[in-house]
Amino acid sequence: MSFERIREKLSILADAAKYDVSCASSGGKRKNSSKGLGNNTGMGICHSYTEDGRCVSLLKILLTNHCIYDCAYCVTRKSNDIKRAAFKIQEVVDLTINFYRRNYIEGLFLSSGIFKNADFTMERLVAVAKKLRLEENFNGYIHLKSIPGASDELMREAGLYADRLSVNIEIPTVSGLQLLAPDKKHEDFIKPMEKVKNEIIQYKAEKKIIKSTPRYAPAGQSTQMIIGATGESDQEIMYSATYYYKKFNMRRVYYSGYIPVLEDNRLPAIETEVPILRENRLYQTDWLLRFYGFSVNEIFNKDHKNLDLDIDPKLGWALRNLHEFPIDINTADKRMLARIPGIGMQSVSKILQARRFRKLDWSHLKAIGIALNRAQYFIVCNSKDFYKKELSPITLKNIIIKSTHSKYKKHFSQQLSLFT
Ligand code: SF4
Repeated sequence: MSFERIREKLSILADAAKYDVSCASSGGKRKNSSKGLGNNTGMGICHSYTEDGRCVSLLKILLTNHCIYDCAYCVTRKSNDIKRAAFKIQEVVDLTINFYRRNYIEGLFLSSGIFKNADFTMERLVAVAKKLRLEENFNGYIHLKSIPGASDELMREAGLYADRLSVNIEIPTVSGLQLLAPDKKHEDFIKPMEKVKNEIIQYKAEKKIIKSTPRYAPAGQSTQMIIGATGESDQEIMYSATYYYKKFNMRRVYYSGYIPVLEDNRLPAIETEVPILRENRLYQTDWLLRFYGFSVNEIFNKDHKNLDLDIDPKLGWALRNLHEFPIDINTADKRMLARIPGIGMQSVSKILQARRFRKLDWSHLKAIGIALNRAQYFIVCNSKDFYKKELSPITLKNIIIKSTHSKYKKHFSQQLSLFT
């Protein structure tokens, strides 16, 4: 195979893979052993960002963009008239090793269109990972996409070589999936997720008894849903995400703003290319649900099914619940501290630690690093407070938006002056 042909394949199959955003390696840890190649630490692999703001890990490719399915939202769908290509197993192995040696990448993110059938494709993905681990002694990060409908046996094998496995549920609801990907069955996603979850639990339990038990998908499993291709509200999306976190012990759910790549009357007309802001608000909500003790019912209700795009979801919650404020920084419990806009979990820990020794005032809070431009309107502390009972939610919202914009403007102009 000529170098030119490999380069062409790489450009086609890396470009086709860019729509998959579930590429972070958080949670992976694999030590180098027996003078092998690479060392994947918990810090994660390098990412780069494409022009449209998407995160791509450096060797992020499809094995092939041939596909037997015709999902309406996908550029790879069989009815789309695009250039097709397929890597051989050894080609992907060689590329990974060569790029790794040149320090271009720290891992492999391998997905694929479905050619022939699910097992035929999954077998090849597994073969790449197996060769890298067993023949090349590669200890870098490997993320394999699981093909919906792949057999239990292949899923079991995949987890022995990959750090992370993921099956993309694509559309947040079953009805949306039926509309846009009628060839796919909901069970085809659920079955491999269930298998991976059970294998992780089983291997972990065995490892406690027999130390030599191999690790199974040590960075867990993740999934991705496309946002905006169907009419789901943010509330439905977050209910769906919560279900996948709880039911399948997902490490991450990724939200990918739908990019109109094809014309299809089942798809919505979207003027702006990528609803990045909506993606961002969903990630913030996801964070609040996982780490800040919020529930979906608190963030959404029947009159508020979509997130505000102009403010973050925690501020939105606070403005709808002003009766919960002001919160006294010196006496509030951890749960309530975490609900104050402008205070992250790290700051919560610092506040709890610091107030054991003294009553905290504005100067202490500033030193801790909390975003006072937002927090000051929701708290009282050991000095004159800014809390004003008479401010309406809308006035408060406008004040905070204005102060946030001027803060960023100042920060941005300082940065510019650094470079000029
Ligand atoms: S099965 Fe996957 S690759 Fe094939 S058309 Fe559907 S989303 Fe695209």
